Amino acid sequence: MTNVTLITGDGIGPEIAEATRRCIDATGAAINWEIAEAGVDVMAKKGTPLPQETIDSVRKNGVALKSPITTPVGTGFRSINVFLRQELELYACLRPCKSYKGVRSRYSDIDLVLVRENTEDLYAGIEFEKGKDDCLELINWLNKHNKRQIKNDAGISIKPISVTATEKIVRFAFDYARKNGRKKVTSVHKANIMKFTDGLWLDISRQVAKDYSDIEFEDRIVDNMCMQLVQKPELYDVLVLPNLYGDILSDLCAGLVGGLGVAPGANIGDKGAIFEATHGSAPKYAGQNKVNPCAVILSGVLMLRHIGKTEEAELLEKAVAAVIAEGKDVTYDMKDDRNDPTAVGTSQMADAIIRKIEN
Ligand code: NAD
Repeated sequence: MTNVTLITGDGIGPEIAEATRRCIDATGAAINWEIAEAGVDVMAKKGTPLPQETIDSVRKNGVALKSPITTPVGTGFRSINVFLRQELELYACLRPCKSYKGVRSRYSDIDLVLVRENTEDLYAGIEFEKGKDDCLELINWLNKHNKRQIKNDAGISIKPISVTATEKIVRFAFDYARKNGRKKVTSVHKANIMKFTDGLWLDISRQVAKDYSDIEFEDRIVDNMCMQLVQKPELYDVLVLPNLYGDILSDLCAGLVGGLGVAPGANIGDKGAIFEATHGSAPKYAGQNKVNPCAVILSGVLMLRHIGKTEEAELLEKAVAAVIAEGKDVTYDMKDDRNDPTAVGTSQMADAIIRKIEN
């Protein structure tokens, strides 16, 4: 048995977590689930949206499947998702974007994997508020050391890009490509403008690429990359990106394959990995047995591959793909008409997937 922490989340989280658990168990993957709580529901009971026992469980098991969690607004708590990523040093965000027959989309043949750096860049959280003493002090210093002058009424966000973090994420992308039979890694940047950050990113990408002569390497400037992805996405395979571009292009790529319902993801570090959908907790649908469980189930497929249960992963992915392709036992969002009365619930879609696994 493999121990995995199942964070059931809140909003639509618990019903999707249960559907996913049942589908994974049906593959015979022999997972020993350790159920852990996080989110607004547990905050009412325990005074914190992320109990210590949940963090301890993820640390101990090293692998977690996580259903969506609401970020409580105005409670003083930071995003639990961001906290978990930082606490467990999950430096790589993996977002596969794949076309499944039966999902409404403008494209039909996409099979991309985005690898996003999770810890640096403009998302590092190093910010200085307009007008505050530290911000004015920083502006003074910068104006003294640079010909270009910053206005005193500016706010400032810092963009650190280090050799260490860049090397780590680019190696991760190449290792992922090698392990998963991928042919090419494209490093995305804006090195023509930001020479000391994106320029460094590109230099390190090129250096790391030399260690992987079996995988093709190329780079693209981020604006061109956006156009290329819309015009000829089939030319790309694994993309590796700094945090900000990674965030934006993940959504672009999710859009290429039909949106949130089929967008799985993973946050991976040296000490552990958390697998989760791109979508959130959609509180307005909570408890209605209505929403699409596929993005969390497909995150479960990534998790099974991560822990070496490749056959079970294939079985589950094929079953999901078959149910979507048939288009019969699918949730409202996968029907041509969202009010289609033949749409099934979360739990019934999971039942259909389990029937495919068992046949
Ligand atoms: P959301 O993804 O929860 O929902 C936006 C809309 O997308 C929903 O109203 C619904 O129409 C649709 N949708 C989402 N998931 C669906 C599914 N499985 N099946 C069918 N339709 C689905 O985004 P939001 O409303 O911006 O965020 C709600 C909460 O979730 C916020 O508190 C946010 O911080 C949090 N959030 C959490 C995560 C996470 O846990 N990783 C990710 C994103 C947002």
